[in-house]
Amino acid sequence: MVDISTKDAYMKMLERVMAEVRNISGKSGDRVLELRPSIMQTGKNTVITNFGHLAETLNRDPEHLARFIFKESGKAGVLEGERLTIQGKLSNEEIKRLLEIYMKEFVKCPVCGGVDTRIEAEKRFRFLQCDVCGAKSSIRKI
Ligand SMILES: [Zn+2]
Repeated sequence: MVDISTKDAYMKMLERVMAEVRNISGKSGDRVLELRPSIMQTGKNTVITNFGHLAETLNRDPEHLARFIFKESGKAGVLEGERLTIQGKLSNEEIKRLLEIYMKEFVKCPVCGGVDTRIEAEKRFRFLQCDVCGAKSSIRKI
């Protein structure tokens, strides 16, 4: 004969343990994203040859990241597949700095520092939704 109350308590405990495990494995606030842009200077242009990969590492739409770079650098350019061509000169340091700003503003959760986040749109507003702590922070539209 099965003791219902004990089984119930056991299931509750199991649920708690599972929730804890999920929390631990889902906790990625310490995860660090390492971006290594491959930059090529060609004539008057600056080309980031692994741009698609960078966007993928950040889990962001390459178009969004490209718009940010154009806007912040004040330069025009074209996104073609994996490559981003920027019209004009941008030094490696400038590109790295732009990527850091992007990460700080559009990837990292300002509450927990987690990088597992998504951009959500609500009407004309944009939010950074954190999958680590659940925080929702408003961000500017790019
Ligand atoms: Zn968070």
